[in-house]
Amino acid sequence: MNVLFPALRDASPAPALRFGDRSLSHRELASAAGVLAERIAGETRIALWATPTLETAVGAVAALLAGVAVVPVNPKIGESELAHIVADSVPSLVLAEPDAELPGPLAALSRIGIEAAAPSEEAGPAPLPNEPGDEAPALIVYTSGTTGPPKGVVLPRRALTHTLDALADAWQWTADDVLVHALPLFHVHGLILGILGPLRRGGSVHHLGRFSTEAVARELAAEGTMLFGVPTMYHRLAAEAGQNPALAKALSRARLLVSGSAALPLTDHERITAATGRRVIERYGMTETLMNTSVRADGPEAAGTVGVPLPGVYVRLVDEAGQALEANDSETVGEIQVRGPNLFVEYLNRPDATAAAFDGGWFRTGDMAVRDAAGNYRIVGRKATDLIKSGGYKIGAGEIENALLAHPGVAEAAVTGAPDEDLGERIVAWIVAETGPDAGPAPSAEELADHVARQLAPHKRPRTVHFLDALPRNDMGKILKRELHA
Ligand code: ATP
Ligand code: MG
Repeated sequence: MNVLFPALRDASPAPALRFGDRSLSHRELASAAGVLAERIAGETRIALWATPTLETAVGAVAALLAGVAVVPVNPKIGESELAHIVADSVPSLVLAEPDAELPGPLAALSRIGIEAAAPSEEAGPAPLPNEPGDEAPALIVYTSGTTGPPKGVVLPRRALTHTLDALADAWQWTADDVLVHALPLFHVHGLILGILGPLRRGGSVHHLGRFSTEAVARELAAEGTMLFGVPTMYHRLAAEAGQNPALAKALSRARLLVSGSAALPLTDHERITAATGRRVIERYGMTETLMNTSVRADGPEAAGTVGVPLPGVYVRLVDEAGQALEANDSETVGEIQVRGPNLFVEYLNRPDATAAAFDGGWFRTGDMAVRDAAGNYRIVGRKATDLIKSGGYKIGAGEIENALLAHPGVAEAAVTGAPDEDLGERIVAWIVAETGPDAGPAPSAEELADHVARQLAPHKRPRTVHFLDALPRNDMGKILKRELHA
């Protein structure tokens, strides 16, 4: 039997989950989730209304214990996307907080309210069901929809256990760790890494409900040892840590600061390190592959890279002709392809998309990278949106974005390619100007274009610069480049 959560089986009295002032030990969680697991046993696939609450965590654990595939649903999702997910995944029922108001497509399903309180101690721990085999589907997670409509990714239990154990190795993650968490619970990052990760280790997680720099400072100053965040969070921490000694001190106490889901700009790495003396480490993964690479907690400094392959994961770079790059090639950009026990089974109802995503046993990530001489992968961007073919050059958007962000007048930057008669594509920059109290006058388009040409090379100069109040982002803070039309 493949046990996902040994500490639940052991009925450990150590803390497991805390959401605000509500918490459960591993033993209490085993009871609450065990009761729910009994009620849903025999179902094949259920939806989970994934609010950032204790109920959601209990619901997910119950489904995993019962061996029922669970589809986490973003509670802020639009009705048409929700209708698509429900029609695509056909859940037999929905788990939700007892008083949640469910929108149409979910309200039509039968519903079980999640009880997050442990039954009384006298009742004794609920007997936990036998867990299914490694290949059984554990979760169906819809991708973030950054590049197109979300696809349902069927994740087997094997992928979960592999990724969580590989991260434990890379991050020296133990039962003593207390994770500070403020991410949503319907994606891999927030649910699998952020909730299931601490539970599998026998450690604990404190979910803040909503991200704020104050709450992060408070929790890291109290008992938090690790922080998982997305770049937009670290950007805010970086902006404040320089002026806020209490925040800087709290961050410097953390054993591990981890960023993922999108690239963390170099300027943010540098500002956090300058204010706290600590580094942020980046890991790289996808819904389809869970985690592929990470900078190791016991490894050398590697800011600006996503580190090295996790144990058991094979990574290669492939050129446009489909040839794998030589291991000692530290200059050529190639597509990242991965193999290993961390991979998904298939896209739900999309045999075409599944077949197209594989090259033999290798999964084509669609992400482009170079591997440096030390073996660290540096992501250049996505093949579809971040590689600009201009005047015979192939230019990575990320490099230009980093150069723009290094300008003091720039708060946020995105770079895209637009069709151009002469160049094939021309470089377009989308800028949110810095507005803080210390910000000078907003830079001109000309000044920013010159800055890039000076920092990088003349052919990397943006031809057009647009100023916006905010960049379009999804709920993980990822920039939606498909909404930026020149
Ligand atoms: P969709 O597949 O629906 O377009 P998505 O690719 O954003 O959306 P996810 O599976 O949530 O959906 O995100 C995976 C992607 O996030 C990766 O392919 C990569 O482009 C990006 N990513 C994740 N971690 C990092 C990182 N540390 N640095 C740069 N990019 C990252
Ligand atoms: Mg994707």
